[in-house]
Amino acid sequence: MSLEQITARLHAAEAKAGRNVGETTLIAVSKVQPNERVQAILEEGHRVFGENRVQEAAGKWPDFREHYDGIELHIIGPLQTNKVRQAMELSQAIHTLDRPKLAKTIARLAQEMGACPDLYIQVNTGAESQKAGILPSEADAFIAESIALDLPVRGLMCIPPVEEEPSLHFALLAKIAARNGLNGLSMGMSGDFESAVPLGATHIRVGSAIFGDRVPTAQ
Ligand SMILES: *Cc1c(COP(=O)(O)O)cnc(C)c1O
Repeated sequence: MSLEQITARLHAAEAKAGRNVGETTLIAVSKVQPNERVQAILEEGHRVFGENRVQEAAGKWPDFREHYDGIELHIIGPLQTNKVRQAMELSQAIHTLDRPKLAKTIARLAQEMGACPDLYIQVNTGAESQKAGILPSEADAFIAESIALDLPVRGLMCIPPVEEEPSLHFALLAKIAARNGLNGLSMGMSGDFESAVPLGATHIRVGSAIFGDRVPTAQ
């Protein structure tokens, strides 16, 4: 599907939900995509992208930034502590703040660098053992702890379990955000963004629906 078609579907979902058309940020998830595909989307004028791996992001985005103004890069994958500085230097937002140690590291580096990307706290809404994120029962305390560290926490992020109805997870995420006074909701991917919009998604993360299937690379 083209970027234009995805945008049209997003706008239709916003209109249907009674939201302002165009208010949801579409993050084009470019991980593991060949540079030509990413460049084609840049040429269409899109500027907001998401990457999973810091190393991969560092390998392509500094070059793209030399040729295109106004690029906004979101880190949406699990973040190791030793990659935090690089992630903060490269990106405008990190969606995967998921543990106290990471919060402390980001806070220390933010002081040192005098700047910090927007932060989203990842909530493991399905309490899946293999998935990153703070448990729903621990979310309120962790949000408070992160805010107390002066971190720019803009909202929450989740990846629903594959087998479950995503709406239930989006609704839970929205509820946790609301009771903690947070506005940002990073939720909805290629397969389910239309159900995230009526539940208040401010950022949807769409990869394969825009770029086509991810091409496996030798790693
Ligand atoms: C890969 C990825 C996406 C995009 O997934 P698609 O199904 O290709 O849209 C969104 N969010 C995260 C965290 C991802 O890792």
